[in-house]
Amino acid sequence: MDSPSSSPDGFDGAAPVLRIEGISSGYGGISIVREVSLAVERGEVLAVMGRNGAGKTTLVDSVAGLLPVSAGSIDLEGHDVTSLDASARARLGLGYVPQGRGIFARLSVEENLRMGSTIGGRPERADIERAFDWFPILKERRRQRAGTLSGGEQQMLAIGRVMAGSPTLLLLDEPSEGIQPSIVQMIAEVITRQNREAGLTVLLVEQNVDLVYLAADRCGVMNKGSIEAWFVPDSLTDPQTVRRYLAL
Ligand code: ATP
Repeated sequence: MDSPSSSPDGFDGAAPVLRIEGISSGYGGISIVREVSLAVERGEVLAVMGRNGAGKTTLVDSVAGLLPVSAGSIDLEGHDVTSLDASARARLGLGYVPQGRGIFARLSVEENLRMGSTIGGRPERADIERAFDWFPILKERRRQRAGTLSGGEQQMLAIGRVMAGSPTLLLLDEPSEGIQPSIVQMIAEVITRQNREAGLTVLLVEQNVDLVYLAADRCGVMNKGSIEAWFVPDSLTDPQTVRRYLAL
């Protein structure tokens, strides 16, 4: 692959926020994720791409603590969290925006934000205002039931809610799914801004080339449960690379 990164699994950097070593996980005794190792450095936006069914959601669910691993270890901020459940990992600063968003459809936008995520306890007014600042449309819609928002607005709400808890590591599972390009662009801008201004560290699972190109520092490609290559997002401007690894 074109420009492979000098530290393919990110292990060169000191004290990564997340270090996964040789994890395997799956369903009903069948491994989907196979011996995956990677590290997300502090202040980095690391993307994992891959075709449908490659195992990306299985990987992030395992990192979030929603799916146990059958082998390997997961370290978050120097703590071995391999055997901790999802809420304990959240308390250590892991914020997860799952595929499908996980918002409360019957509550208003503002009530969703007030519920917060499990990180950092209950949000302060200032945290809610920060979410409105990132995504101004949420302020306009603050009294509207979340279930009546468009898909893109729901995604903004899901991301705003988790980011307002000031996670140490933000895990995003396909935030672009079913969303129009202008909102994908806005999400990329918010992630990039928080990354630059507040040092937000992100593990992003995505198939959307534009979002990865705009937001990520480094990108791994998952195939059949393993990371088969690493590259810099600039390589995504090469149609051959995109065809070969992502079949797009
Ligand atoms: P997509 O982009 O389509 O979500 P993905 O890369 O996130 O794909 P996964 O959702 O991790 O892939 O799925 C990987 C494999 O695991 C697929 O073959 C899928 O059918 C299988 N799988 C996912 N969830 C379950 C489950 N709950 N029980 C059994 N098999 C599952």
